[in-house]
Amino acid sequence: MHTRFACRRRTLLLLLAIAVASPAQATLSKRNIDVLHYAVAIQPDIAAKTIQGHVVVRFAATASLLRSVEFDNDGLTVDAVREAGTALSFTQHDKRLHIQLGRPAQQGEQREIEIDYHGAPRYGLQLHPDRSQAYTIFSTSQWLVGIDAPDERATLELTVTLPAGFKAVGNGRQIGHRTLANGLEVYRWRQDLPVPAYTFGFAAGNFNEVIATAGEVQLRFLSDALDEGELRRVFADTADMLRYFERRAGVPYPAERYTQALVADTIGQELAGFSLMSEAYGREVLADPLNESLIAHEAAHQWWGNMVTCARWNEFWLNEAFANFLAATYMEHRFGKAEYEKSVSRWRGRHQKLKAEGKDKPLVFPDWNKPTSDDRAVVYQKGAYVLHLLRAQLGEDIFWRGIRDYTRTHFGSSVTTRDFQTAMEQSAGKPLDTFFDAWVYSSDHR
Ligand SMILES: [Zn+2]
Repeated sequence: MHTRFACRRRTLLLLLAIAVASPAQATLSKRNIDVLHYAVAIQPDIAAKTIQGHVVVRFAATASLLRSVEFDNDGLTVDAVREAGTALSFTQHDKRLHIQLGRPAQQGEQREIEIDYHGAPRYGLQLHPDRSQAYTIFSTSQWLVGIDAPDERATLELTVTLPAGFKAVGNGRQIGHRTLANGLEVYRWRQDLPVPAYTFGFAAGNFNEVIATAGEVQLRFLSDALDEGELRRVFADTADMLRYFERRAGVPYPAERYTQALVADTIGQELAGFSLMSEAYGREVLADPLNESLIAHEAAHQWWGNMVTCARWNEFWLNEAFANFLAATYMEHRFGKAEYEKSVSRWRGRHQKLKAEGKDKPLVFPDWNKPTSDDRAVVYQKGAYVLHLLRAQLGEDIFWRGIRDYTRTHFGSSVTTRDFQTAMEQSAGKPLDTFFDAWVYSSDHR
């Protein structure tokens, strides 16, 4: 098994090397640092709904003579900041932590800063004393002082101290588990491939656990509301989904394990190496397997979203329309053409409603501040419909070859819509400006 994993890792490293060498790397970051690694330790107090945290952030300066650095901090209280044991001065305002460096950093120089903090996360970390559960929801800077931007990728070592008897999942490989004298249990995970911070997280509870396999990937299903037999039924198609998306992506699933957990209450959520869905949703899948498209949507994010990530939130369709569309094509693969067509007609209907109400917008937004539910419909539903239209226009071979080339080229990096258009044009062997101008960059649909 170990050799097979090593082989898998080599393939991924090769693909990452190709992606890094790609000239199409999208983003020109305005930040003056590039975060390389976070080592974070969190101790939640589930009853009090608070946390204590400590993070060591390793970064490289991307500007010369850098005298201060900034991190996102959404509602946490920073107690101390140090570099090499020396206290640094800092201020906190507007959801930002500003730190004065003791000595300026040269461009390219790597530095390491330590931050102690505490707080009561608003929704980014859900602490449910009544259900004995703790799990994160997207807003990472509500439980980890860092950088939230989607084009900031870093590796992560995550240590979480939990009540006795909890089962837990975190990003990447589990590298440690020990019981303290007071009975608390300490879990440690390491995420080796750099990913955006919104895919950082963990989930813990008195979970039932099922272990299964998808080829050389270990699958793990967790829930305290559903028993093991029910979990096997809910996630019966996970292995097939991973195989299907690997084929569409041309890139293997990027980790040794994929965990799916059903938690008390959440929207579907993708994280690096796992996904979270609600118990209520799990029961809907038990009642009717045709409800499993959200499971497929979150699994698709392990490629489109987590590993090929929109460089800025205003091009969020590169995450969400892709996950929606790919999930619908999985449903087509699994249940037949009619299931796919049902999704297409829902997307078309939603887009027609947007147009009728004057709420249609280009898929590439001018900005993505305070999006409305109609804005989300543009990104999720119209976006998926546009991918369907492009598939219909280009035909199966050209379309899927373009998707594979795009995914392989940009795997492990940030993308813009231009990167996607370029890949599809290379596959088609002709410009696609007319299609992209009408359907993606404007809301002028001829
Ligand atoms: Zn999604």
